[in-house]
Amino acid sequence: MPLIVQKYGGTSLGSIERIKSVAMRVARSQNEGHRVVVVLSAMSGETNRLIDMTHQASEFPLERETDVVVSSGEQVSVGLMTMVLTEMGYRALSLLGFQVPIVTDSRFGIARITKIETERITRELDRDTIVVIAGFQGIDAEGNITTLGRGGSDTTAVAIAAALKADVCEIYTDVEGVFTTNPSICEEARKLTKISYDEMLEMASMGARVLQTRAVEFSKKYNVPLRVRSSFTDDPGTLVCKEDKDMEKVAVSGVTYTKDEGKISVVRVPDRPGIAATLFRPLTEEGINVDMIVQNISHEGHTDLTFTVSKADFKKALRLVKDTAGEIEAQEVLGDPGIAKISIVGAGMRSHAGVASMMFEVLAKESINIQMISTSEIKVSCVIDEKYTELAVRVLHEAFGLGKEEVVEEK
Ligand code: ASP
Ligand code: MG
Repeated sequence: MPLIVQKYGGTSLGSIERIKSVAMRVARSQNEGHRVVVVLSAMSGETNRLIDMTHQASEFPLERETDVVVSSGEQVSVGLMTMVLTEMGYRALSLLGFQVPIVTDSRFGIARITKIETERITRELDRDTIVVIAGFQGIDAEGNITTLGRGGSDTTAVAIAAALKADVCEIYTDVEGVFTTNPSICEEARKLTKISYDEMLEMASMGARVLQTRAVEFSKKYNVPLRVRSSFTDDPGTLVCKEDKDMEKVAVSGVTYTKDEGKISVVRVPDRPGIAATLFRPLTEEGINVDMIVQNISHEGHTDLTFTVSKADFKKALRLVKDTAGEIEAQEVLGDPGIAKISIVGAGMRSHAGVASMMFEVLAKESINIQMISTSEIKVSCVIDEKYTELAVRVLHEAFGLGKEEVVEEK
């Protein structure tokens, strides 16, 4: 019998009524002949409420005890779901992370799964039990409760699917799947039928709303097909899977953007070995992540260096760079937080020529100036003035034909 892992997020579990309707969906999957494992998040808003309370209790909440508190939201969901399923006449059993057990390292709040024992789950599945597992939580080698980071139930679900060699892992959320771009800024945005793991990872800035990035990395590593779909409709959603030939047919699968970064330029830096190292060392020491970096070829022994950091780190990074600027004899340091990074993503870029230049043409036609460019095998990103974000997204979406009916049909 095919094995399916279904993960339901907080909005799908917002009330007892919602839990009951999710239970019907779970029951239906079993009726259709699946062995079913359910992974649940906390009811919506619950994790935030629990975190708030830890801050009311203590100025510096202990990490170990924070995990004890915040993991409780998932305990409530699995208990309630199991009661409802039992009430409906199904055989169901809840399991907390430590009961599986889902073993993790000891990094409270950001733990990584190291091992999942499947014996108990398999034993229950063999008895036709619907196994309802608490997401987000685990236990370390010393027996401490741990949690996997915000959105961690996605990772729990994928890890369980991988360990059980499930046929598919369904991630139920409040949107119908992964879209070609953000529907709230582009009316033409269309739900994708299928997308590759790599595309999904590159679309993280947008995709992160529906899937924890770590869960995608995990599913790629273990080749677990993921289906992102809504618990409010019967739409089949978006399949996230290994790249196939169909995916190469379209050059671009999606347009994403982020306004979460700021740009810092170091002007007229003497061009000699060690400059970049000196400049970025203090940032690294402060745990600041640098995203795009552009360095010009040198002119009269001097060069310009521009890079982006997240807006949260922007002020601190600017101060650190200004401190170093004197040391490396740079002429000046300029900061601009008003930027946006627009990206086009597509597995088909590997085999289609001219995708990047088409992007530049499209932006040029709208007189949108490109400040920085970076590329990967399946992504081209441009930094532009933040105020043109929506316009850029819409014209690129249109130019790459993303609003039209999908050419790739699911087999
Ligand atoms: N309840 C946790 C959170 O809100 C885990 C999850 O929902 O995936 O982050
Ligand atoms: Mg989530």
